[in-house]
Amino acid sequence: MLKTVNIIGGGPAGLMAASILSQNSYQVTIFDRKPSLGRKFLLAGRGGLNITHSEKKEDFFEKYGKNSQIFKQIINEFSPQDLRNWCEKLGEKTFVGSSGRVFPESFKASPLLRAWLSQLKRQKVIFKTKHDWLGWKDDKLLFKSDNQDILVNSDLTILSLGGASWPHLGSDGSWVNILEKYNIEVSKLQPSNCGFFVNWSKIFANRFAGKPLKSIKIKYKEKIIRGEFVITKDGIEGGAIYTLSSLIRESINIDGEQKITVDLKPDININEINRRLSNTKSNLSMTNYLRKTIKLSDVAIGLIMEVKHKKKSRKLNSENLAYHIKNFELSLQKPFSIKKCISTAGGVSFNSIDKNFMLIKKSNVYVAGEMIDWEAPTGGYLLQACIASGFFIANNILKKNTEK
Ligand SMILES: Cc1cc2nc3c(=O)[nH]c(=O)nc-3n(C[C@H](O)[C@H](O)[C@H](O)COP(=O)(O)OP(=O)(O)OC[C@H]3O[C@@H](n4cnc5c(N)ncnc54)[C@H](O)[C@@H]3O)c2cc1C
Repeated sequence: MLKTVNIIGGGPAGLMAASILSQNSYQVTIFDRKPSLGRKFLLAGRGGLNITHSEKKEDFFEKYGKNSQIFKQIINEFSPQDLRNWCEKLGEKTFVGSSGRVFPESFKASPLLRAWLSQLKRQKVIFKTKHDWLGWKDDKLLFKSDNQDILVNSDLTILSLGGASWPHLGSDGSWVNILEKYNIEVSKLQPSNCGFFVNWSKIFANRFAGKPLKSIKIKYKEKIIRGEFVITKDGIEGGAIYTLSSLIRESINIDGEQKITVDLKPDININEINRRLSNTKSNLSMTNYLRKTIKLSDVAIGLIMEVKHKKKSRKLNSENLAYHIKNFELSLQKPFSIKKCISTAGGVSFNSIDKNFMLIKKSNVYVAGEMIDWEAPTGGYLLQACIASGFFIANNILKKNTEK
């Protein structure tokens, strides 16, 4: 008789566990509250689907911070190269971009997801969409579907319910209350890879919201990041700030508002900027003066004008200007809402699961993917870890059953 497994959550972590178990004589059913699977995966595809990274393994593992040893084990079992081979088997070749990030050639998630779901169908996986998991009742899984309560017997369950960002796509962290009822330790869900609120003047926000600030260098504590970020109406978001977001979030949690320093012209040193600014004697407006002498972008000029505005000084001398261009201070008040971030920090604590990722307080219930308490920067590290964790759990289940 086929062994059965119920997977709740049809994102990349759950789908990978389903692939492995259904190839190995398990009858797999995937439940998801949304009408279709992999909605966040599809959203990730809008940015090109950065599925993993090509850097050296040791650098890769470091991205998981305090959990790097755990992810070393998991990712050694399903490595970035394994992930690339797996994509290729599903008909999607991958390539390494100039930053070392890996993308499917189509630069989209939809062809990969379509091929993945077709493979699962061929392996007789049953999809039960529009099934909202509400917890357990009399040790059975309780779902709400079409306004009806549905109870499902389950000897083996995998929870792959995701974090809490972009909740309209299905993952909203509602599982936290369910697990806490069973005294399962869950660290507070928090925004990760997120933007931060900045108190812009109305004029600046209206003029520059949506505009990128390119080729800058951010300094925060001992970290220096080169890249870009985007101005929003109430703050900043984008690559360079996401990289620092976990560090900044933790400091805000302890000490409140944090200052970052932005070098608006990292390729020219302060003396040279000062020289160029002081050599130019003309009646140019401040904007034209900065644009012509050091080719500062309009957004960067806007930032300098904010300083001028705050200092209420009609004119900053060239030395002051050069200083602010190289050391522009930006106060970040708090992270954007978890609903708007790329990923979620916090989740099921590693103290609550055993070495196979089974809940210690709920036998034969495993957890996978973003719902576990880890975080990593963008760059393909999130999908790699989610997919590898689904692979890891499925293989542990197989091993456990062959040992019996
Ligand atoms: C805008 C954006 C861009 C991103 N880009 C990238 C990228 O390029 N590279 C990268 O590595 N990562 C990226 N990510 C992150 C990545 O998409 C996630 O880390 C990943 O999808 C998490 O996988 P998961 O399987 O753990 O959870 P999810 O993909 O969130 O899937 C969880 C599933 O569980 C279902 N579910 C939740 N609760 C219930 C319930 N109670 N009952 C039934 N079903 C439920 C949900 O409907 C959902 O389908 C991006 C994220 C966002 C928001």
